[in-house]
Amino acid sequence: MQLEVIQNPHGSHSIAPNWSHIRLEAAKAFKDHCSAEPWTRIRKAKLLTEPGANTKLAKGFVPIYGLTLAPAGSSGYQLCPWRSPECERACLGITAGRSKFSNVREARIAKTHYLMQHPYEFFRQLYQELAAAREKHNPAHFAFRSNVLSDIPWESIAPEMYWFSWVNYDYTKSLNRCLNLVDNPKRAYVLDLTLSFSGHNWIACEMYLHRRGKVAVVFNIPKGEPLPEFYKDWPVVDGDNHDLRIDDPSGCIVGLRAKGSINKASAFVVSTP
Ligand code: SF4
Repeated sequence: MQLEVIQNPHGSHSIAPNWSHIRLEAAKAFKDHCSAEPWTRIRKAKLLTEPGANTKLAKGFVPIYGLTLAPAGSSGYQLCPWRSPECERACLGITAGRSKFSNVREARIAKTHYLMQHPYEFFRQLYQELAAAREKHNPAHFAFRSNVLSDIPWESIAPEMYWFSWVNYDYTKSLNRCLNLVDNPKRAYVLDLTLSFSGHNWIACEMYLHRRGKVAVVFNIPKGEPLPEFYKDWPVVDGDNHDLRIDDPSGCIVGLRAKGSINKASAFVVSTP
């Protein structure tokens, strides 16, 4: 297994995961899941974040399940290749909600190590939990967010994870992830991608808006205060009302209010007049 070491903006080192190996293990796990091949479960705790266990995932018109791994390089493995230094510093996984508790962070790191060290078992368990969610809800009546605090192009690595729900979605900082989906309308699963403004990718954001995509922007606006109606001439919808973007209009800004201890002067947070 060849590993690439990346210097992260905080000065520590993180390893680029061996995605080609993980892809092979994910495909084998799905084949074995479908044929009910026996396997040995290594991890006792669940992999999926259940609906209501995270404030973001609690907001949706259907129950939302999520895969919450350790953001950026915080586990030693780099899961956010398109991050900006500002978004990494401001990352919700470090500054807001339950993430400030170290046992929550440690659980995410342990889950990430499980993926890296035991990918076959990781995916057998993931498919089992997604199948249980499908059994519990109608596939059209639950949603799956595959990157709650990471930015992994799962559609290239383990697209089978999107075959359990009819409502899969993600936020990403990669224009390529977004355009590959737009340019591949015949794919066999539903995946809705919202591009996130990182502080430095506005040109990419405008390109996606012109392709009828949605772009998430964090505004320097306190909780409870109204968002602007338009940003740079694009209509703004309130992204804090719920997390699911699948019903948003084409070509819109998903406005979010800065939360936690985010530095409001960061390039990642947009000031409005
Ligand atoms: S890309 Fe998203 S999850 Fe990753 S560091 Fe930036 S804000 Fe956090």
